Amino acid sequence: MLLINLFILVQVPVYAQVPVSQIEGKEVYKGDDVVFHQIDQHTWVGSGHVMASESLYLVEGSDKAVLIDAGTKITDLDKIVALITKKPVMLVATHVHPDHTGSAIDYFPELYINPADTIGIPQFMPNYKGKIKFLTDGEIIDLGGRQLEVVFTPGHTPGSTTFIDKSAHYGFSGDSFGSGNLLLTTTFSTLLETCKKMSAIMEGYNIDKLYPGHYFGINEETRKRVDGMITISTDVLAGKVKGDENPNGMLGLNRIVSQYGVRINFNEKAVK
Ligand SMILES: [Zn+2]
Repeated sequence: MLLINLFILVQVPVYAQVPVSQIEGKEVYKGDDVVFHQIDQHTWVGSGHVMASESLYLVEGSDKAVLIDAGTKITDLDKIVALITKKPVMLVATHVHPDHTGSAIDYFPELYINPADTIGIPQFMPNYKGKIKFLTDGEIIDLGGRQLEVVFTPGHTPGSTTFIDKSAHYGFSGDSFGSGNLLLTTTFSTLLETCKKMSAIMEGYNIDKLYPGHYFGINEETRKRVDGMITISTDVLAGKVKGDENPNGMLGLNRIVSQYGVRINFNEKAVK
């Protein structure tokens, strides 16, 4: 049952064919469960392979580091991360799904999450023994000489969250925008608000890209695609676009709309 749950949560049709090796940057760790590559001097991307290149990101400041997501099943993730950074590590999750909050969360005494996703905790992370702490929208996580801004971006899940590094002009968005294949488990009005909010932030702070929850080196989220989702959401809500049937859709998402390089998987109940 758990395996079935895991399988329905990932965008296998899009990601499955794409090898992790397309990630550029120096390889700094390679193990059975995860490979870490360097994005820039103090930032790394880890690629798991249990669930279609599930991605985790390690973001380091001068005082501490943040680990964004924990992948699906990565043995000794705390020790692996300690090989890359000597700073104390704070674990945050982009959302509650188990390819982002897998068993490795147990190596960490605390996990920070958007409170709106606590609804998914009994299903997706029932056995976590550590303390669950809550993020707030707009909060700044100060890493020492580097800051991450917490931006709530509901849509994929009610508590989906993006972390923005304004100075570096990039962010980390988990599955919030889907990287071309969004699984929308909330509503189009929620998605519309989220995309408008993110588009304004990307414009205001020159954010070039958002590193996604399933990253294979070519699918960062762009403002263009976020804006495409604004148009799609507006058109769907106005009844102008209905999408196509998608009878075998994951998570009961039995319709799909595909435009502007974006696929949004949804259920007709999401049209509100
Ligand atoms: Zn997810």
